[in-house]
Amino acid sequence: MANLIGSRETLPQAFPTLTKEQIDRIRPSGRIRPVQIGDILFQPGDTEVPFFVLLSGRMEIVQPTLDGQRMIALHETGEFTGEMTMISGQRCLVIGRVTESGEFLELGADDLRALVAKDAELSEILMRAFILRRVELIRQGWGNVVVLGSQHSARTLEIREFLSRNGHPHTYIDLDRDQTSQELLDRFAVTPSEIPVVIFYGRDVLRSPSIRDLAACLGFNVTSAPSQVRDLIIAGAGPAGLAAAVYAASEGLDALVIETSSPGGQAGSSSRIENYLGFPTGVSGQELAVRAAAQALKFGAQMMIARTVLGLKCGRRPYLVAVDGGEELAARTIVIATGAQYKKLALPNQERFEGNGVYYGATYMESQLCMGEELAVVGGGNSAGQAATFLAQTASRVHMLVRSGELSETMSRYLIQRLQENPKVELHFLTEITGLDGGTHLERITWREGRTGGQSEHAIRHLFVMTGASPRTEWLRGCLALDNKGFILTGRDLEIAGAVDDGNPRWPLARAPEILETSIPGVFAVGDVRAGNVKRVASAVGEGAISIYLVHRALAEL
Ligand SMILES: Cc1cc2nc3c(=O)[nH]c(=O)nc-3n(C[C@H](O)[C@H](O)[C@H](O)COP(=O)(O)OP(=O)(O)OC[C@H]3O[C@@H](n4cnc5c(N)ncnc54)[C@H](O)[C@@H]3O)c2cc1C
Repeated sequence: MANLIGSRETLPQAFPTLTKEQIDRIRPSGRIRPVQIGDILFQPGDTEVPFFVLLSGRMEIVQPTLDGQRMIALHETGEFTGEMTMISGQRCLVIGRVTESGEFLELGADDLRALVAKDAELSEILMRAFILRRVELIRQGWGNVVVLGSQHSARTLEIREFLSRNGHPHTYIDLDRDQTSQELLDRFAVTPSEIPVVIFYGRDVLRSPSIRDLAACLGFNVTSAPSQVRDLIIAGAGPAGLAAAVYAASEGLDALVIETSSPGGQAGSSSRIENYLGFPTGVSGQELAVRAAAQALKFGAQMMIARTVLGLKCGRRPYLVAVDGGEELAARTIVIATGAQYKKLALPNQERFEGNGVYYGATYMESQLCMGEELAVVGGGNSAGQAATFLAQTASRVHMLVRSGELSETMSRYLIQRLQENPKVELHFLTEITGLDGGTHLERITWREGRTGGQSEHAIRHLFVMTGASPRTEWLRGCLALDNKGFILTGRDLEIAGAVDDGNPRWPLARAPEILETSIPGVFAVGDVRAGNVKRVASAVGEGAISIYLVHRALAEL
C-alpha cells in the first residue's frame, strides 16, 4: 500500500492527540463502544458517519482505488477519526477498520455538530484537523473519484472545476497523454462519445454526467420533506449567500442554501483577493469559499449544490421556492444572493469555444491549461487586471485588450502599476476583438486597434473574457421590483421607484421596507444582485450578515 497522508509526527495539527481533559469534555456527548480487530466502523458511500475518539486500541483508514486499496492514516489511542465529510454530511470517502481491539468513544453526526458549535477549543482542534486532512487528500489527489477526460474538452473542464471548487479530492487521468488508460476504458466498456467518465470507489461509472448527477452521486445535497417549512432559504452561495448562511445557522435559524454551481460565486473564480480584510497577503477566492462553506455547515446550515432556483411564489406565506427538478420548498423568509454573471462579447462563435480556449475565470486550473503559451485577457476592470497579473506568472505573454483609452477610471491603482511594470503584459488600448477562429479549440484571435484602425490576426489559443457582469434575476421578473438593468430594488430605492409607474410590484405594507428588503416583505436581496451594490467581497459578506438581523425581525412579525 502507498504512503499515509500523514501522522501525528509528520502533521501534528492534522493528527492531534487529545488531552484527558479534552476527551472528558467529549464524553457526555457520546457513548463507549467496545471494538474488536477487523471491525469495519464506516465505509465509502456511508452518510452521517459517526465520529470516534480512540480511548484504547488502534485503527486504520484505507481508501479503495482502481487497483486495490491505499493506506490513508493510522489512528492511535487519544486520536480521533473524520475529515470534512463529518461536518458536511456528505458521503464517506474511506474505510475505517479496527487493527487493535479496545474501546472507542462514539458520537453521532448531530452530536458532533452540536459539540463543535458549543465548545470553541474542541471546535478549533477538530475543524482544523478535518480541513487539513481534506487539504492533504486534495493535494495528493486521493479521493473516491477518478475523472477520465481530455484537456481539450469543455465538459471535462466543467467536471474538474466543479469537483475542485467544491473541495472534493479526485484523480484526473488525461486521455490525450495517458496511453495506458485505454485499458481502463475497455474494462468499463466506455465508448468515445461517453467521455468524460467519472469512476467512483473504483467500481461505479458515470458516463459524461451533468454536474447535477455528479452532485447527487457524491451525496452533496440534503433531501427535504415536502411539508418542511424552513425559517430561511438563501438563493446563491457566493460570498453574500455564504455569509448569510453562516450568520443564520450560528444564530439558530433553520437555513437552506441553494447553489446552481459551486459555493464561492464570482469570488470563487478569483485567483487572489487582495483587499479582503484580515488577509494581508491575499487569499484565493476558492480557499475563501471552501472555508466559508465549511463554516456554514459547521453551524448546521444545509446546502443543495448544482441545483437552480427557478422561481419564487410569494402570493402567501410561507413563500415557495421552485427548484429545478420540480421541487417546491417552503420558507418563512428568503435571502436572494444570486449575484451577477459575466457579460459575453458580441461574437457569434464565442459560445462554441467556451471551455475550449474561452474562459470567464482565471484560477489555477485555467493557468495550467495555458502554461508557457501566449494568451489574451479582455476587459479594463479589476477582475481583468487580476487575471492578467496572475496568468503572467505562467504564460509566455499576456495581451490585455482594453476598449477604453486608459485604465484609471475602472481599475485600482495598485493593479495598474503591477500591469505596467510586468514585462510579460502588453497593454492594447482602444482595442476590440472582431473574430475568433479554430476547430474544436480556439486557434486564432483577430482584434482591431483603435489608434491605427487596423485589424490583425494572432495565433492565440486562450482568451479570458473579463468584461463585467449582469444580474442573475431572470427568474424574478414580474415577481419583485427590479431597476432598468434587472438589479433588485431594496429599502429606500423602492420608495423612490414607487413614485413613478415603472410597472414594478408595489411595497404592500404600512411600515417602510428595511434597508435590504425587496418589494416583498421578508424577502431580502444582498450582494451583487442588489441595485446599488458596490461589487466587493467585503460588502457582499457584510450585507449577508446584516440580512440575518433583518430576517430575525421579519420572523418576529409573523
Ligand atoms: C475574477 C473576479 C475577481 C474579483 N476580485 C475581487 C477582489 O479582489 N476583491 C473584491 O472585493 N471583489 C472582487 N470581485 C468581486 C466579487 O467577487 C463580487 O463582488 C462578489 O463575489 C459578489 O458576491 P455575491 O455573493 O453577491 O454574488 P456572486 O459571487 O455572483 O455569487 C452568486 C452565486 O449565486 C449562484 N446563483 C445564481 N443564480 C442562481 C439560481 N437561480 N439558483 C441558485 N444559485 C444561483 C451563482 O452560481 C453564484 O455562486 C471579483 C470578481 C471577479 C469575477
